[in-house]
Amino acid sequence: MNNNEKSKNVLRDALLNTKCFSIIAGPCAIEDKIQLDELAARLKEMDIHILRGGAYKMRTSPYSYRGLGEVGLSIHKEIGEKYNMLTVSECIDINKVEMMSEIIDVLLIGTRNMQNYPLLEALGKVSNPVILKRGMCSTYQEWLFAAQYIIESGNPNVVLCERGIRTFENHTRNTLDLSAIPSIQFLSDLPIIIDPSHSTGSRKYIKSMTWAAVAAGANGVMIETHIDPDKSICDADQSVSIEELETIIKPIPQLRNIICH
Ligand code: PEP
Ligand code: MN
Repeated sequence: MNNNEKSKNVLRDALLNTKCFSIIAGPCAIEDKIQLDELAARLKEMDIHILRGGAYKMRTSPYSYRGLGEVGLSIHKEIGEKYNMLTVSECIDINKVEMMSEIIDVLLIGTRNMQNYPLLEALGKVSNPVILKRGMCSTYQEWLFAAQYIIESGNPNVVLCERGIRTFENHTRNTLDLSAIPSIQFLSDLPIIIDPSHSTGSRKYIKSMTWAAVAAGANGVMIETHIDPDKSICDADQSVSIEELETIIKPIPQLRNIICH
């Protein structure tokens, strides 16, 4: 095993460890190589080693940008290798699970596919960690059963991600259910991370929700970050800049110490 593989294993183990805290950052969608390269270099300087980026986007409107597909995956792989970062990307298709498992380190299941049981079973046949987002209208029980589809099919490496649920409130894009953190910790042994980006839909709320998630004992956060957020093709309103990200993550170690998680 070379040094790159060793440090990726450390990151992977930390992501799956309920005593650890992982920070995942990167664009909603991969747009081009130069941009991802610049972003990854800056994230590394900030000691962030997990790079998200969508290549296949599940868009509500068929007219929205749907990602670069395989080209996006190969950009992601190249940049991940260059900076020795763990890569995270969404898998939306049962026929792409095997291919993606060889290119991308961590597979993401988006909210719209939480109950796509054949896809979940296919993820059970690979060993990559799977970040399973909560369905926007799903209960904890339904979410945990979805996780069991992956685990029972042979892959125990599941991380749950609360990304906000549908409520009557429409000021925020969704409603971040912070109660999911202690509840899931009571109901299961799986790590739980928070996505403050898709839950709030607004960059001005990412900081407070991240800190609240840390205080509530989350095992990580996934934050949409862009080199030039206003120009982000996808989810611009909720994407933060590198500078904003820095102020968001800086107090996390101290906060965790106070709370003693
Ligand atoms: C994402 O994280 O890229 C995404 C599409 O999120 P969600 O499935 O939570 O909407
Ligand atoms: Mn997004």
